[in-house]
Amino acid sequence: MDFQLTDRQKELMDAAKGAYERKLAPLVADTSVEGVRRLRRAMAEQGLLGLNLPPEHGGLGLPLLDTLLVIQTLQACAPIVGGLCHRTSTGAIGAVAEYGTPDQRARFVEPLCRGEIGISIGITEPEAGSAATALKTRARIEGDHVVLNGSKQFVSFVNINEFTLVYCRFGTSGKASDIGAVIVPHDAPGFRHSSGTLNMADELLFELYFDDCRVPKENVLLDGGAFGKLISVYNAERLGSMARMLGSARASYEYALAYSKERRQFGREICDFQGIQWMLADMRVKLDAAHLLVMRAASTAQVTGLPAPLETSIAKVFTAKAAKEICDDAIQVLGANGYTKEYPLAHRYAEVRGGSIYGGTMQIHKNMIAAAILERENSQWKKA
Ligand SMILES: Cc1cc2nc3c(=O)[nH]c(=O)nc-3n(C[C@H](O)[C@H](O)[C@H](O)COP(=O)(O)OP(=O)(O)OC[C@H]3O[C@@H](n4cnc5c(N)ncnc54)[C@H](O)[C@@H]3O)c2cc1C
Repeated sequence: MDFQLTDRQKELMDAAKGAYERKLAPLVADTSVEGVRRLRRAMAEQGLLGLNLPPEHGGLGLPLLDTLLVIQTLQACAPIVGGLCHRTSTGAIGAVAEYGTPDQRARFVEPLCRGEIGISIGITEPEAGSAATALKTRARIEGDHVVLNGSKQFVSFVNINEFTLVYCRFGTSGKASDIGAVIVPHDAPGFRHSSGTLNMADELLFELYFDDCRVPKENVLLDGGAFGKLISVYNAERLGSMARMLGSARASYEYALAYSKERRQFGREICDFQGIQWMLADMRVKLDAAHLLVMRAASTAQVTGLPAPLETSIAKVFTAKAAKEICDDAIQVLGANGYTKEYPLAHRYAEVRGGSIYGGTMQIHKNMIAAAILERENSQWKKA
């Protein structure tokens, strides 16, 4: 057991920060669709996409743990850059890399690593939020095509990305075993999306509609019996979002620490006050503890290839809460300045707040932890 970062890991993080400062920082202000796609291509040129995807398909083949360190570093630099690194390394593409045919890997993983395409993930539906296996979107094979009917909601990055990995039902048993996934191009006939709803971090979340949406059969990733497989890969995505929460929490902590040494009240720097010192100490304790839990969960992937569910849920519950509290305390250290949009901390808080909801809410992860420690199925479904 080694709690220290290796020289190689420190080099990776320094290189990512250096690439951000030299090449990416000038691009982040342009938040238009074209601007974000330009940034994505620039990140590909810097080797910052597809970090843990297979090298034979253009990825860097980094271990999950190293991937998370880079995501965390880039997130602290700028959330849009951390988000792109996350979405193209441990996002929906992970399922394509893991379960895709050689043809699918060539068509999706390779262009994604070159920054040419991006893939959203469509799981949530109006009546299937936490109860994800209640999803109703149907897929049926018709000749050379798969035809989808249904809808999704709260899907991120749909305007930027060119595809969505859609979780859908291939059978009619109503059981989780019907669930598979299809890679749907956003220009497929019968596909539409809403103009998006702004969330509190000013990011758009989209509704997707499938009305006899026809997609070539070659885009079926898994045609049923796949929910467990999809969620196993999704645990890496969850860890990617935890790395982002850590990056934002660290940036907030460092900002507050520096501010507390500058701001003077009562003739002294505010870091001289015990009330401020204890907030800074609490922030640092939570940051280190969350970091170690996320790294522990990531290290389990070295054994099985995918992160262990229990360690992932434990890391998620602690990190999502810690990140919220760290960002909240950072705002408090800055007083009214922290609460304005002139300073970056209000946005950091809004962003990490979503972490308690997406990727399985805190309560759902606690249910899963309880199931594991009590060694029972812990089904949440109402008994018939
Ligand atoms: C920023 C953001 C980005 C997102 N991006 C995507 C995306 O790209 N793709 C996608 O598919 N989805 C996405 N989502 C949706 C997200 O996955 C869902 O919001 C989440 O699964 C919860 O579903 P819900 O919002 O319908 O809440 P509900 O399931 O309605 O839950 C409401 C409340 O009830 C609690 N609850 C429900 N069931 C239980 C239970 N059994 N035990 C205890 N408490 C329970 C929940 O914890 C929550 O507090 C995103 C959400 C956010 C906030």
